[in-house]
Amino acid sequence: MRQHTIRKPVSIEGVGLHSGKVARVTVSPAPPDAGVVFKERATGERIPARPESVVNSHYATTLGANATRIQTVEHLMAAAAGLGIDNIEIEVDGPEIPALDGSAKPFVALLAFAGRVQQSARRRMLSLPCPLRVGGAGRWIHIVPSDTLRISYTLDNDHPAIGTQVLSWSPSERSFVEEFAPARTYGFLRDLGLMRKNGLARGGSLDNAIVLGNSGALNGLRYRDEFVRHKILDLLGDLALLGRPLRAHVIARNGGHALNLELVLAVQRAAGLERRAAATASATAAEEAAREAAQREGFVPAPGLVTI
Ligand SMILES: [Zn+2]
Repeated sequence: MRQHTIRKPVSIEGVGLHSGKVARVTVSPAPPDAGVVFKERATGERIPARPESVVNSHYATTLGANATRIQTVEHLMAAAAGLGIDNIEIEVDGPEIPALDGSAKPFVALLAFAGRVQQSARRRMLSLPCPLRVGGAGRWIHIVPSDTLRISYTLDNDHPAIGTQVLSWSPSERSFVEEFAPARTYGFLRDLGLMRKNGLARGGSLDNAIVLGNSGALNGLRYRDEFVRHKILDLLGDLALLGRPLRAHVIARNGGHALNLELVLAVQRAAGLERRAAATASATAAEEAAREAAQREGFVPAPGLVTI
């Protein structure tokens, strides 16, 4: 199997879910082995989409380098991974990738419009040397070696609209486009005030998220089990930080971006892909997470689940 990029540059614009700021994203072709690289327009800072670039994984995956931050990269990353696109440059003129409809569907449409081109270099799959596990009692991800990628997910929540949702999926491009890319992010109305006070969900609305009231969703669902489908979509986007398609069975229960990142770092270590800089980068990420947590005095994440 060869690597792929897109045929021509394409752009899309919209509001960021957390920042509430409008940003324009331009996706362009990139050479073989470039991977996915984000670029902030104003500073020209380039941030490779790799585990060591993650500076925050609360409620969304944020990449950073020096003082530049690009928030909520996961749905665009999932779209590229789901369509088998290995190499692209993503230029952003704001702090966050637009939420659009809260799913990966608009990014899939954008990348499909750009067209896909096969490149000369071979795609290198990533195999696991041994099973791994991250997390604790109620929230964990287990990963075992396999010939192909499979994601099995259990989402448990006492909200009546969610309950227990279980899905096992072996990705194909068609099923990704039809059954997973359109699944939207979700949040609880009861958390909205506190999240906004803490600089989160400022661009969130019924247009870009499923909003859950006390008894049910305030907007209609695209799938009966849209919530677990979105969790799988997020996991796919975060796994794409490894830069190579994974041959493994990923079994998750009540995960979120922070746990996904723990998994990605564990896979990277086990597969011997860790770069020398990685230890420094994750120390910086941990320091920044602690600093941000301290700044949000009084901020308590929703119990049991990372909602977005
Ligand atoms: Zn998401």
